[in-house]
Amino acid sequence: MIELIDSHAHLYHKQFQGRLEEVIANASRAGVVQILSLGTTAANSRETLQMAEAHPGIFAGVGIHPNDWATSEPGDWERIVDLAANSRVVAIGETGLDRHWHDTPFEQQLLGFDLHLDLSDQLKKPVSIHCRECEDELIEHLRKRGKPIHGVLHSFCGNPQQASEFLDLGLYLSFAGMLTFSNKNLDPLRLAAQEAPIDRIMIETDSPYLSPHPFRGKQNEPARVQHTALKLSQLREMSLELLAEVTTANARRLFRLPLIQVPDSFT
Ligand SMILES: [Zn+2]
Repeated sequence: MIELIDSHAHLYHKQFQGRLEEVIANASRAGVVQILSLGTTAANSRETLQMAEAHPGIFAGVGIHPNDWATSEPGDWERIVDLAANSRVVAIGETGLDRHWHDTPFEQQLLGFDLHLDLSDQLKKPVSIHCRECEDELIEHLRKRGKPIHGVLHSFCGNPQQASEFLDLGLYLSFAGMLTFSNKNLDPLRLAAQEAPIDRIMIETDSPYLSPHPFRGKQNEPARVQHTALKLSQLREMSLELLAEVTTANARRLFRLPLIQVPDSFT
């Protein structure tokens, strides 16, 4: 039986409300043994941690997404800092930079991002970084810190050059459903996924977003990480079993997740 890890999902999302047990059972059947669920606000980061405390197979990331930064309230960042100390919190984020939406002025996004990076340094917990339409600016910003970045560029969708810059910074790369879309303009992403060092790649759904082919446009859930896993194994010309083994080992190493002892310990 293969063991997959969905390294980035949003289980607090209203689309999962009232059906978490079903979503977990679907994931289990698809070979997903652990899920890293990330918050995007102080409130849903708290909910995420509660889910992680209730389910051995769910782990939490806490943070304020760049697009939610402008609407965060006084005290929200302090709440994140408090939550982050919990042992079920294995990542800081979702954080990052976004040039697609304009919910938060870019200068403010940078300030929020730096707080997450500093917290990650302080707690030695990896960051889960979002980047939309600003890869080069993100690379430049991270370079200025002058030290390796402990974390992952989630849902990477850049080109091989950008991939190698993120890798040089010390980051892992996580691939989502876009890998399975047939769009020509995603060929550079596929090339990056082929070339990235095997010990620095992982897979994710970003549920409920980014559903892989053949479910494109539909609500995504952690079970569907198997489609991205299969596509990545084909691109890299390796067996699904081996791809699962290495991506799972990589996610466990970065997020310091425990090995699963009992196959059905998930629920
Ligand atoms: Zn996300």
